[in-house]
Amino acid sequence: MTLHLPTLLVALTLASGVLAAAVLAVAWGSHLRKGLSLWGLGLVLNALSYPAFGLRDAGWLGVSIVLTNALTALSLVIHTLALMAFQKGRSRAPPHWLVWLPAGLNMLVAATLLHDDRWRNVLVAGLQTVMAGGLLWQAWAPGLLGRRHTGRWVVISGASLLCITLVLRTLFMLEASEWDAHFNVPAQVQVATYIATLAVLLLNSMGYVLMQMEHAVSQQHELASHDRLTGLYNRLALMELMDHHLALARRRRSPLALLMLDIDHFKLVNDQHGHLVGDEVLRQVAQRARARLRGADLLARFGGEEFLALLPATTADGALAVAEGIRRAVGDQPIVVNGVSIPVTISIGLHAGIPGEGPTAAEAMIAQSDQALYEAKHQGRNRVVQA
Ligand code: GH3
Ligand code: MG
Ligand code: MG
Repeated sequence: MTLHLPTLLVALTLASGVLAAAVLAVAWGSHLRKGLSLWGLGLVLNALSYPAFGLRDAGWLGVSIVLTNALTALSLVIHTLALMAFQKGRSRAPPHWLVWLPAGLNMLVAATLLHDDRWRNVLVAGLQTVMAGGLLWQAWAPGLLGRRHTGRWVVISGASLLCITLVLRTLFMLEASEWDAHFNVPAQVQVATYIATLAVLLLNSMGYVLMQMEHAVSQQHELASHDRLTGLYNRLALMELMDHHLALARRRRSPLALLMLDIDHFKLVNDQHGHLVGDEVLRQVAQRARARLRGADLLARFGGEEFLALLPATTADGALAVAEGIRRAVGDQPIVVNGVSIPVTISIGLHAGIPGEGPTAAEAMIAQSDQALYEAKHQGRNRVVQA
């Protein structure tokens, strides 16, 4: 069975066009960033490249060659840029000119070697392989998503398939040396390339949309579990994590420590310097406290100017040393906001031990550290008190 090339061109135009419409519809009015619109635009250009290819049957050979190459190259560049939108702010992102370079060369080669079919086809296939490699490189580069996200792997497989297809096509073009001056890509090769391209298009687009969705979901998760001002865990997230840590400590019969931190006379900071400065003070206190904790310790913004630290596998003595360190890290150097020095101190209530049984164990431990904090305030503030 042989496939009818014009029918295939129509099918590809439709498939690519419908995909483009679907992606653009998702992008329309959604908060998902510009990435989806870029991807949709790449699909539109790709869809147009098939009718452009068909123009050569209408006798417009030169126009068709230049146009098809330009559209295919632009579509690849735009898809690479859409992937790069994910790497924003990350290192290892190549400069944009490097992405455009092979595409520019591709268009140049197509336009200048119009009458040298063999070398035009070899060079174009080679340059497109380079562009496909760029796409694969971008999908592979560490972006905003972790390795376990599936969308990225779908794009990686699509880009790999494209690379393989284009490498084979380049090799084929190189091998075809005995062909005459009227060299034209045989229909079977064109059909094979186009069928592989369709699979690539579907894989990449599905993967890209999935990447965007997964990114949106992890952003939602981040928003739901973290405090916007300080970037620390919020109270709800800490309570959820705490249940897990308590169960672990109970099973291992290993002590666990809680530190309840509260900024002293914080109302005065707001009254004297304003709420915005107060916010910045909160941020810096959070930073100083976080810097004194170990990687396994959790720190959450528990309330307005109260923080709760959970220290797994920590005895009372160990926790006392950490708490003292935090207290001094905050109190020894004034906090500077807009050039104004603001002396800030904190009081800390500490409770350590092996957690008790029952569903209220977490609340009981928090109540203990809260009570110790109250005592620290009562004794004159800027100190650590153990329950
Ligand atoms: P104490 O030493 O007894 O803890 O005195 P305090 O003034 O720190 O305690 P109080 O609980 O009376 O006041 C807490 C203040 O924290 C009041 C509130 O305006 C302020 N606050 C709470 N959340 C925020 C916030 O997100 N930003 C700012 N700027 N202030 C906040
Ligand atoms: Mg306070
Ligand atoms: Mg308070």
